[in-house]
Amino acid sequence: MFFDMKLFYFSMVLNGILILMTFVYITLIDQGQVYTYLHYDLVGNLINIIASQVLLFLIFHLSFSRMKKQQLYYEQVQQAERLKMIANLTAAVAHEIRNPVTVVRGFLQLYQQDPSFDVSDKNKFKLMIDELNTVEHITSQFLTLSKPNGDLKPERVNVKDVLHSVTSLLSSYAMLSDNHIDIDVEEDCTILINTIEFKQLLMNLIKNAVEASEAGMSVSVTARRSRHYIEIRIIDQGSGMSEDEVNSLGTPFYSLKSNGTGLGLMICFNIVKKYGGEIHYHSSKGDGTTVTVRFLAADNKRL
Ligand code: ADP
Ligand code: MG
Repeated sequence: MFFDMKLFYFSMVLNGILILMTFVYITLIDQGQVYTYLHYDLVGNLINIIASQVLLFLIFHLSFSRMKKQQLYYEQVQQAERLKMIANLTAAVAHEIRNPVTVVRGFLQLYQQDPSFDVSDKNKFKLMIDELNTVEHITSQFLTLSKPNGDLKPERVNVKDVLHSVTSLLSSYAMLSDNHIDIDVEEDCTILINTIEFKQLLMNLIKNAVEASEAGMSVSVTARRSRHYIEIRIIDQGSGMSEDEVNSLGTPFYSLKSNGTGLGLMICFNIVKKYGGEIHYHSSKGDGTTVTVRFLAADNKRL
């Protein structure tokens, strides 16, 4: 009974009703014939019983809240353990990816200097090298999951510039599925964050929005100042999610895509948390999703 709040309150109310009925019976029907002692000091006995009920309630309240706290603590420890394990695993995978990437990039750099290739080929090599650089950034990001990287210092970042560079990178990806990315960003939105991590955050969120959208739909990205905060919204009219699905976001390996990893949002949540921001999902199945990310504006925070 002490471990179930509903059961406790139910038995408490039942107890109260029974006690009341007993006292009514003693005063009106029994009138002290059988229960002389109780009838002799009705008020005193009533106080006595009420006090014992209050005491019972206090004991329940204390032990229950303590138990809840312990449960929460246990869940947090478990989650931390899981995260640590995944961080180690992804770090190992990221490490393994880095080596082949370095080799391929090396060859591309060689070809780039080779005079037997014409300019248009060399431009393609440059694009490939840029993409490999992004892969390397991302893998090194994975490595930072397991060991915090001191190099990733926060800096004053203009949200507009970063959003433009991220969307121009992603628009060709969106075009593949006939989607469009619209941006609407206010001037003077600056926040304190590491640029690489900020790009990674936006990239993951916008990519998810594009992937959730059907062909022909567009994803809208807005950023504006709201009092001391900069609010970035990524809005799609795609598949949307149920409440349960929204609650599972950020859980490692939670993915509904056949080729998904379910790591993107875990990384996003970590980045947002690291810089003291907030991230909220508003979604309904079939209607699309709005992700709101909020950071304190740079002029409200000292470097
Ligand atoms: P991945 O993209 O590799 O599946 P993520 O962590 O980025 O992993 O996302 C986890 C899951 O959350 C996705 O598989 C998808 O089901 C769901 N999701 C995330 N963003 C959206 C969105 N904008 N609309 C609908 N579902 C989403
Ligand atoms: Mg994703």
